[in-house]
Amino acid sequence: LDHGSGTSTADRHPPTFKSDAPHSARIYDYWLGGKDNFAVDREVGEAMIAAIPGMRYMAGENRKFVHRVVRHLAGAGVRQFLDIGTGIPTEPNLHQVAQQVNPQTRVVYVDNDPLVLVHARALMLSTDQGRCEYLAADLRESQSILDSPVVKDTLDLTEPIGLTLIAVLMLLADTEDPWARVAELRDAAPSGSFLAITHPTADFNAAEVDAAVAAATGAGMTLVVRNRQEVARFFGDWELVEPGLVPVSAWQPDGPVDEPQAAYYWAGLARKP
Ligand code: SAH
Repeated sequence: LDHGSGTSTADRHPPTFKSDAPHSARIYDYWLGGKDNFAVDREVGEAMIAAIPGMRYMAGENRKFVHRVVRHLAGAGVRQFLDIGTGIPTEPNLHQVAQQVNPQTRVVYVDNDPLVLVHARALMLSTDQGRCEYLAADLRESQSILDSPVVKDTLDLTEPIGLTLIAVLMLLADTEDPWARVAELRDAAPSGSFLAITHPTADFNAAEVDAAVAAATGAGMTLVVRNRQEVARFFGDWELVEPGLVPVSAWQPDGPVDEPQAAYYWAGLARKP
């Protein structure tokens, strides 16, 4: 063994993915039954399940909203999407739902977790007629997303877009002014564009949600739940589509919903006038 070669730990283990800190994408992947997570993610994920026994159900309901809202938008003729906070691929992915309706659909997937982008490039494959592109960027620098060559080349910002911010805004602190970031994105979108948001909230069960937030923040994460009014502000003056800003399971459900408030997310879709 040569301990004196000068080979640093970093050389032997290239600094690809940090596995010493929990990441939201991998915790969410764990809840959804995925395999792309580390011990540190499972630990926080389990602590949050201990606080919210229905956490896995919640994650599943959030995914089902993605399917319903994208189907709705594709049906309304939206053929280009900007999805920020994409997450680790989970079938069916956004582009699959949209391209099933319109194979020409173009999607830009944006995430700030390099692991997500590696999986996305490998697994989120477009139809031949459409396009999927991937952008490593941060929602906190929304203007850099809009200015990126990938967005400029893939999306035609003179035609309506579907902007999806699904289960991501809670990862920005109030001090990072997520409302200003979303306003920048709204302003760049042409009339007829849509904005879809889900956001966790303590409005339906403060005790469970506060305990889950404590577990996450205790592990060093930023996680901010917001009330209905705070979530409503993300839509600015855009017009909410029926049924408005509602518990995620109650947004255009495919069938009767027994207990809509059992998944602690607000969800809404709004259209730019
Ligand atoms: N939208 C997907 C995944 C949600 S998990 C769904 O609802 O199914 C949240 C995702 O947001 C993760 O992949 C995480 O890496 C990403 N993310 C967190 N903070 C971000 C930021 N500041 N900018 C861009 N992406 C971010």
